[in-house]
Amino acid sequence: MIEYFERLLQNDAESKSKDDVSSICKSLDLQGSIECGATVLAGKDFGGIHSVKPFALIRPSSPDDVARVVKAVSRSSNLTVAARGNGHSINGQSMADRGLIVDMRSMGDDHFEVVGSHCVDVSGGALWEDVLKRCVLEYGLAPRSWTDYLGLTVGGTLSNAGVSGQAFRFGPQTSNVTELEVVTGKGDVLTCTESENSELFFGVLGGLGQFGIITRARVLLESAPDMVRWIRVVYTEFEEFSRDIELLVSREDDSFDYVEGFVFVNSDDQINGWPSVPMDPAQRFDQNRIPGTAGSVLYCLEVALHYKNGGDPSIVDTIVRKLLGGLGFVEELKFQVDVSYMGFLLRVKRAEEDAKANGMWEDCPHPWLNLFVSKRDIADFDHMVFKNILKRGVGGPMLVYPLLRNKWDNRTSVVIPEGELFYIVALLRFPPLGPKGPEVEKMIAQNHEIIKCCSKKGIDFKQYLPHYQSHEEWKRHFGNQWTRFVERKASFDPMAILAPGQKIFTRTP
Ligand code: FAD
Repeated sequence: MIEYFERLLQNDAESKSKDDVSSICKSLDLQGSIECGATVLAGKDFGGIHSVKPFALIRPSSPDDVARVVKAVSRSSNLTVAARGNGHSINGQSMADRGLIVDMRSMGDDHFEVVGSHCVDVSGGALWEDVLKRCVLEYGLAPRSWTDYLGLTVGGTLSNAGVSGQAFRFGPQTSNVTELEVVTGKGDVLTCTESENSELFFGVLGGLGQFGIITRARVLLESAPDMVRWIRVVYTEFEEFSRDIELLVSREDDSFDYVEGFVFVNSDDQINGWPSVPMDPAQRFDQNRIPGTAGSVLYCLEVALHYKNGGDPSIVDTIVRKLLGGLGFVEELKFQVDVSYMGFLLRVKRAEEDAKANGMWEDCPHPWLNLFVSKRDIADFDHMVFKNILKRGVGGPMLVYPLLRNKWDNRTSVVIPEGELFYIVALLRFPPLGPKGPEVEKMIAQNHEIIKCCSKKGIDFKQYLPHYQSHEEWKRHFGNQWTRFVERKASFDPMAILAPGQKIFTRTP
């Protein structure tokens, strides 16, 4: 069978007959299925910038299936294999050029079991939006830490970090799992926790798919609220915005349940400007309220407070008034809505539906850039990047909000800047409609310019969802964690067959 795969590496996979497909399937003895050639889906990702030709797409139906595939690949001389979550990477991270793709979504419904009163076992291939719906509707419970968009898989976000406006309190999603089932690069199926196979547990969290394929995760839960008061307020000065948002995240329990922020352009531009702030068609952004001293960009603090149905609405008003009291936003530029908890967490789904209708979701490239920038340097970053390089916006949201280091476990593989507080900066670019063209190239060049300027100015930053071409750059990214990362690779995937799309290691023949 391996010889067969390898022969196909030299031939055109797409020309192979269905008989061949079923013979591979048989020799692997999978319960799931294999699709050889024509695996267009598996050769693309949300970024829409890179595309490759994988040799086959495997839809496993159990961890055993995954282990069989990994073992078969490790017996070959040069094949590689990548787990594909929902393919929402930007730079080909879940691809395997002339390799095998394991479609984790095919096992998405494999597990769903509430364990005790505050954990749920879910499949590595489950979408977070499905986890949300089942937890809330069947048990009145919900995971504590989220991403903004939930059309991502559990394994995909745990391989990176998984952050949103709850992370200041609970840490990233990687800080909110207590047990994993993992198929290592040797094809072993192992359960791991903080105390059992702990090196694998921490290695896989934020491990960019390098050490194993997550087939099950035990996720921490909290009691789900019914409703959310969702509020946006506007600042003209970065100093005031950052002072207030840092105050809110450092108050931890005595604060909002969600704290984020974004930068927008001080203009009437439909996408990048004032109209991006109101949350309801009935609300209007009154630009006359912006002081004449304001610069090219403005800042929006976005917060949310959970509450239960049947409570006294005036209590919510009182808490919100107390939490917002003393903050330095422009008084008249405050927007708020009350929405259901699920409606709040699924808010980006509505944007996705609109973008799909406009051809901005699947049909266009997304040269996004995500960075973690230390508090020490965020004001310089604002000056250099938001106020100058990006003063006309990025065609989509420019998120900026703080995270607390003490909520991140330094035993995981995630890399963050120095200091107790750092900001996530997410430049969620949507180029004007059309195929990959000059606009996209310009955006990619601008991303490079931002990284170059930050490096030159000595800004303490790390790429989130990193993407590098060379060994040297990866080494620099990991810094003093590089040795540990390499040692973990040697222990769990010694032949470097896993996640080749990250371009960190080269397959050992
Ligand atoms: P994929 O892109 O399919 O895979 C990503 C990497 O993980 C690959 O290396 C792959 O091999 C590996 N992998 C996938 N599944 C597994 C598994 N089961 N076991 C081991 N390795 C695996 N991130 C945030 O933190 N917060 C956000 O708010 C946020 N919002 C986003 C919104 C959108 C619209 C998009 C496109 C991305 C967003 N992201 C966000 C980034 C997102 O978390 C990552 O891109 C994530 O990797 C995507 O998950 P996925 O399931 O699509 O993974």
